[in-house]
Amino acid sequence: MRYTNAFVFVAVAMVLLYGCVPAVDETNSQENKTDPTIVPEPATPIPDNTTIYFCKDYCSFVQGGENDKLEYNQSDKSFFCTCSDYSGELAAKTEITPRDLKLYGQKKVWWENMPITYQIMNEDECGDYEVGQINRALEKIEEAADGIVKFAEVDQDANIELSCEFIKDCYSKKIDIRKEEGIIYESEEICSHAAGTAQITKLEGFKIKKAKVTLIGLDGFSETSGNGASGFYIGSCGHTTVEVHEILHTFGFGHTNNSQSVMYHQTELVPYTIQKEGACIGSDRIIDQEIIDELLFVYG
Ligand SMILES: [Zn+2]
Repeated sequence: MRYTNAFVFVAVAMVLLYGCVPAVDETNSQENKTDPTIVPEPATPIPDNTTIYFCKDYCSFVQGGENDKLEYNQSDKSFFCTCSDYSGELAAKTEITPRDLKLYGQKKVWWENMPITYQIMNEDECGDYEVGQINRALEKIEEAADGIVKFAEVDQDANIELSCEFIKDCYSKKIDIRKEEGIIYESEEICSHAAGTAQITKLEGFKIKKAKVTLIGLDGFSETSGNGASGFYIGSCGHTTVEVHEILHTFGFGHTNNSQSVMYHQTELVPYTIQKEGACIGSDRIIDQEIIDELLFVYG
């Protein structure tokens, strides 16, 4: 206690003294002029390791963020992280909030703005069926997160750009007539393929700015409503599993071993032949509780 009192006394004495001597430093003198009654705040707190590493990692994500510097803002009582390139040019600056540190402690990336905007880049090619699937998938995520996560469609510069691609020569139908046996074997096959891909294309620190999702359908199927002829329907049983899976990748969710979960590692692969009758029963996958909890934690 004695030391603290002594420190305050010295600090106050210095202010009084400072008022009498001519200003040496332009910035200091201006600060004094704006509010001379302010007693100096205690010295800048020492950042803990989490804050230091947050700033280092943040800058390493930012283009031109070679140098990181922590600054303390007395009025906000928070640290700021400033990233600059080798020539000292400012590349990014962010306030480090307690929430940021909590999320960083769990090594997460997160969408910064809400609603998250999206655009279907080649809507005509995707066709009515797949556009419907994408919109249903977005709704499912909104519902799972209790409306805390929201999506909004835009015409340009969207956070998530979704597009459709088609693979050729993936479907084949074989008719094998074996006269001696008197049986006609008919088989339909599709090649093993990824049904979708997702990439986060722009991160600023831990904040996701942009992502791309590609949904992959089979070429050569006509777009008819409801009866499963869409190239996106084949192998998906009409579920939105792949769409939800890829969109959740853009949130930074990885794969899980939980076979009930929509993030199960095999959901984006279509390794099988045409679904046999009954194979679709129970094949839908859920946005599991772990994902829901994380969405509520990060965006709530
Ligand atoms: Zn995946």
